[in-house]
Amino acid sequence: MNFASEHRPTQAIINLSAISHNIKEFRGLITVDQEIYAVVKADGYGHGAVPVAKAALEAGATGLCVATVDEAIELRQAGLIQVPILVLGLTSPYGIAEILHYNITITVSNIDFFVKAYEQLEHSEQTELLNLYQLKFHLKLDTGMSRIGLQSKTDIRTFYEQIKGFTWAVWEGVFTHFATAGGGPSTYIQQQWERWEFLLEEVPESVKIRHFANSAMAMYPNYNQKSDIIRLGIAMYGLHPKDLVIKQETYCDEEFEHNATFDQMLALDLQPALQLVSELVYVKKVPSGTSVSYGATYTSQEEEWIGTVPIGYADGWLRAYHSVPVLVEGYKCSVLGVINMDQMMIRLPKAFPIGTEVTLIGMDGGLNNHASSIARQVDTISYEIVTSIGARVPRIYI
Ligand SMILES: *Cc1c(COP(=O)(O)O)cnc(C)c1O
Repeated sequence: MNFASEHRPTQAIINLSAISHNIKEFRGLITVDQEIYAVVKADGYGHGAVPVAKAALEAGATGLCVATVDEAIELRQAGLIQVPILVLGLTSPYGIAEILHYNITITVSNIDFFVKAYEQLEHSEQTELLNLYQLKFHLKLDTGMSRIGLQSKTDIRTFYEQIKGFTWAVWEGVFTHFATAGGGPSTYIQQQWERWEFLLEEVPESVKIRHFANSAMAMYPNYNQKSDIIRLGIAMYGLHPKDLVIKQETYCDEEFEHNATFDQMLALDLQPALQLVSELVYVKKVPSGTSVSYGATYTSQEEEWIGTVPIGYADGWLRAYHSVPVLVEGYKCSVLGVINMDQMMIRLPKAFPIGTEVTLIGMDGGLNNHASSIARQVDTISYEIVTSIGARVPRIYI
């Protein structure tokens, strides 16, 4: 967070005990043999990768997942040395020396990686690294997401034959990803499951670790105890993968009928770890007929109190959120006019002193601006709400 603006009252407050609480909720759902890997990609879903990773490991996670090698290096450089770190996305073979040096486990989808990685080491005269370190990898299988991964038994068989030539590579795991566990037709889960079991028939016995569960699959009663690793992302941060909000306001997915699965998913007590807060930096009373913000899209119809809040779209409070009220002293306050890059104006029910707290995400008294309810109001998912919070917003840990 090099560019965080410390001299401005806009902050993301991260409650690390919520992270550990949420991990323990999941430990209660799964068997002792299953491991939880905390997914801390995208700077820990905007919460800060290093503090979240440390809290998660203390709470019982035994590994970490990231999206890129650079994210893995950040964790290693922060002192997280022993723990396995799995990069979920595909990786450029040109980074092979660093991958080995930092003991990063990578995901591969074809044999090319190994060919090119070896050439790269030869080219830079670093092949001796292969005697010093091992390259651990997981093979990705595509069972219906159509993103990355091998799709057929023939491809897996060919891969198996070819990988034998790379004695320096350790094939540690195999995994897939479900497309509809967090929303969409639930029959598709069954289809993907069948495909997964079918493809696994071609994976050699020696590949011990087999995993498929993200947060949503980790909540599905019939599947969650079958994944050797739970790759726990959004739910670790206390947000429901389907953006179901239980407390204060209740939402239900229309296509998600009320049944035993639904009950179990809702029974989990997920505590959101992130609060986004700011303060009123300017308060004024304006007469009727006063236009507010760029484009003069809003004009007051009567005398009213207006507060200015130092947060804007460059902080991740996007222009699309203009219809999302923020909370001040237990009141819902509407945004007036368009959201600016660094500031926005809100309607106040009365005069409040400068320095009064404004809650953008989180609880204020009895009201809750839950990230999932904001997501539903602006037609997105909570993942996007929290990962959009900009680097300029300092993260404060409690
Ligand atoms: C991001 C990601 C996860 C975590 O997903 P959540 O829905 O946040 O739990 C798991 N697996 C893969 C492959 C991912 O890319």
